[in-house]
Amino acid sequence: TPRIFSGIQPSGGLTLGNYLGALKRFAALQGKDAETVYCIVDLHAITVWQDPQILRGRIREAAAAFMASGVDPAQSILFNQSQVSAHAELAWLFNTVARVGWMYRMTQFKDKAGKNSENASLGLLAYPALMAADILAYQATGVPVGEDQKQHLELTRDIAAKFNHDYGVNHFPLTEPLIEGVATRVMSLRDGSRKMSKSDPSDASRINLTDDADAIAQKIRKARTDADPLPGRVEGLKDRPEARNLVNIYAALADQTPDQVLTRFEGQGFGAFKPALADLAVETLSPITRRMAEYLDDPAEIDRILGDGAARADEVATPILDRTKEIMGLLRSR
Ligand code: ATP
Ligand code: MG
Repeated sequence: TPRIFSGIQPSGGLTLGNYLGALKRFAALQGKDAETVYCIVDLHAITVWQDPQILRGRIREAAAAFMASGVDPAQSILFNQSQVSAHAELAWLFNTVARVGWMYRMTQFKDKAGKNSENASLGLLAYPALMAADILAYQATGVPVGEDQKQHLELTRDIAAKFNHDYGVNHFPLTEPLIEGVATRVMSLRDGSRKMSKSDPSDASRINLTDDADAIAQKIRKARTDADPLPGRVEGLKDRPEARNLVNIYAALADQTPDQVLTRFEGQGFGAFKPALADLAVETLSPITRRMAEYLDDPAEIDRILGDGAARADEVATPILDRTKEIMGLLRSR
């Protein structure tokens, strides 16, 4: 059976972008004739400094968000990356396959390293090799992600292809990115040219899965927009990125197309649209927020679930890692 892998960093509280672009789709892919492996990628999170106490809490909070969004640890393998050593080991092997120049071309590295990139951690530069290892440790064939991860997925294919070529094998699959739907790139509420991110310093830029109804309504009310009424079709939203973003969010939350949303709101201004969007967002997110809090009431149970998932993940990944080492000529005598 085909295998699907994806992950989310516990680098902050999860956002509406993570929910629509990732979590909601992770849940929907379960039970669809594919094995689903979902990971809280804590080793990626530490490529920028994380306070240890806060990080531990965020790993549990991310696990709660996965489950509250419908990821079922009985149907999927759900675990945190650092508990399965195959990820870091395979990443090292891939560090010898990937080229330095490939890494410098990654837009995420450029964004996150900023101007003083010489001072970024080496891990931040090597991030895509670890991501390739996350995926290929399971020989996963499909990876549901947001649009922002497309370039990293291409690099994963490049690493798989170069490995297969260099060693004359057909060991790693060329993984397909699964980037689908209207919410593959939810934008910041403050700046229509930046994506919504959990690590954005501005809390007003995003809706967090832990925000209450008042916070959600206030952030949407204050979201940057223009003053024009909504058109009847999406073509009319060209050059209106902020308006387009809010319509896309509405569509994704309502499981409609943007055109269906515009048919309903044609001619109306944001004074009418924003409260309707806020109501819809609260209606969709509040049950998730509530379930997250319930899971977080029992952190020992979350730890048990992640440990169980890690043991199952290990069973899949270890034979693939062992075979990879064998292909590369690394001697094994125990
Ligand atoms: P960070 O700012 O720490 O990088 P992030 O919000 O970008 O956090 P990630 O953990 O890097 O979240 O990404 C997890 C998943 O969520 C990935 O599949 C990514 O493509 C998706 N994702 C992140 N932001 C968005 C967004 N704004 N719209 C849609 N999908 C998103
Ligand atoms: Mg990110």
